[in-house]
Amino acid sequence: MDNNGEIQVFGHTFVPYLSAEDISAAVKRVAGEIERDYAGREPLFLVVLTGAFVFAADLFREVKMPATIRFVRLASYEAMASTGEVREIMGLDTDVTGKDIIVVEDIVDSGTTMHYFLSDLKAKGAASAEVCSLLFKPEALKFSEAEPRYAGFRIPRDFVIGYGLDYDGYVRNLPAIYTLKK
Ligand code: 5GP
Ligand code: MG
Repeated sequence: MDNNGEIQVFGHTFVPYLSAEDISAAVKRVAGEIERDYAGREPLFLVVLTGAFVFAADLFREVKMPATIRFVRLASYEAMASTGEVREIMGLDTDVTGKDIIVVEDIVDSGTTMHYFLSDLKAKGAASAEVCSLLFKPEALKFSEAEPRYAGFRIPRDFVIGYGLDYDGYVRNLPAIYTLKK
């Protein structure tokens, strides 16, 4: 740790942005919203790997209700820039027909990933599908339906790392969130 908790990652300086305490409070708040909205139902949490695994582990333990959890791994790529495309690296291994789905994401940026995944869930007969994302960058959103129903924090369009979010595969294990120093 440098001055003011700054850290160096691959030659770039990152500054503390959301503390572990901030994150924990947001997780509890979002869990409470979900408990209230899904009272009497048994939601299926679908966690989008890899980034959301840390958030999902904390969130799932805060949600005090009958619920199940599964994992998918999606990769978005912009090779066809105008359309965007989302690949399933590890697909659904459960029937979603008639289920109330909560998609757990680390961050919704352009919304491309959620745009494709939500339409896939609807096509597969999910009763409902909502997005729960720790972070949301409203200014970057291209697909309005991808706006998270549940969001821990609305943040500016800056690159953030930690608490599951990576920089080239690293720093997912930082317990707090850092933003690139300007
Ligand atoms: P979207 O499909 O919404 O454009 O992109 C979502 C994905 O982009 C996230 O799941 C995440 O992998 C990546 N992403 C977007 N913004 C950031 C960021 O600030 N930091 C990191 N580490 N990944 C990001
Ligand atoms: Mg992600």
